[in-house]
Amino acid sequence: MVDLLSQHKKLEQQIFESIHRVIDSSAFIKGSEVAVFENTLADFLQVSHVITCANGTDALQIALMALELHPGDEVIVPAFTYVATAEVIALLGLMPVMVDVDEDTFNISLSGLAKAITHRTKAIIPVHLFGQCSNMEPLMKLAEAHHLYVIEDNAQSLGANYAFSNGHVKKAGTIGTIGCTSFFPTKNLGCLGDGGALMTNDPGLAEKIRMIANHGQRKKYYHEVVGCNSRLDTLQAAILNVKLPHLEEYLNARRKAGDYYQIALKHFNYGILPASLPATEPTYNQFTLKIRGGLRDKMKEYLEQKGIPSMIYYPLPLYKQKAFNKFVPTGFSLPVTEKLCESVLSLPIHTEMAEDELSYICEIVLDFKEVGAI
Ligand SMILES: *Cc1c(COP(=O)(O)O)cnc(C)c1O
Repeated sequence: MVDLLSQHKKLEQQIFESIHRVIDSSAFIKGSEVAVFENTLADFLQVSHVITCANGTDALQIALMALELHPGDEVIVPAFTYVATAEVIALLGLMPVMVDVDEDTFNISLSGLAKAITHRTKAIIPVHLFGQCSNMEPLMKLAEAHHLYVIEDNAQSLGANYAFSNGHVKKAGTIGTIGCTSFFPTKNLGCLGDGGALMTNDPGLAEKIRMIANHGQRKKYYHEVVGCNSRLDTLQAAILNVKLPHLEEYLNARRKAGDYYQIALKHFNYGILPASLPATEPTYNQFTLKIRGGLRDKMKEYLEQKGIPSMIYYPLPLYKQKAFNKFVPTGFSLPVTEKLCESVLSLPIHTEMAEDELSYICEIVLDFKEVGAI
């Protein structure tokens, strides 16, 4: 599905040098590389503040903590997402409210969202799934009209652009109240382990986030709020400092592979290709087909036999996960989410894909026709 080895081999020398520098400095926690990374990423994203933390899940948790939500407050999330988005809501004693997604873009449905807002709703967490920014302009309008915070789960779409109707282009994660991202190895910008960050243009929130991520202290051993221990290791920051200058190149490589699939698989009768909103330039963290006619599992098996990996993101709606039983009424169901969980299949996509690999995969995918007819 991914080829991290080839990606890192190209930067091997620089990565080793950066690791040695950190070892020589012995500043493993909050070393200077961390601030350098935060500032460079803030420049890249055109956002005032980036605060790193231990992983993307922590970023979401810290965002909710910084907004001082109260037990029972409702937070709206799409039901078709990775578990982390809703997990942190439940963990903090808040109420996850799940809404459906748009079939074309896999992102939160605005009509579903509008219907789910109650007087207890305090925040929305749109997830920019598979590399594409959610439809943020109408979403922000809705949030503003109801005085709701917006936390963008941008774990999968770092670097994606979103164009507003006035021509302004913003990066995913910098549009809402707080943006959250992850540097898990397979994300758009991956470190060699776990890592995450929050971003905001609000200086007060930025300070609070920084405090919460570091045991609720501004000054060492003086704890103003209950926080957590969630920091990006200096080693990971040093590695990210080597990789960040290549992010644009990584995104372009993903787009090139995505575009290749779009053209080559245009006439694939058994599947529907991912679509993107005109307002967003996707980053193809995943390339996800919707397989028609209940043939998804057959298709996956067929690809496996031909030596082509594929993945199902995600096989089960959030509201059907045992862990979330108590948050959803019995029989709760969202039609698009249900359909997607039964039909989605993601093909290999990464920064190192060669044209012959892409063409081989497409040839096999298109051949499914005959096999499917048997
Ligand atoms: C990866 C991911 C996260 C969590 O990031 P981690 O760094 O693995 O904790 C959250 N939300 C989404 C949508 C993700 O894909």
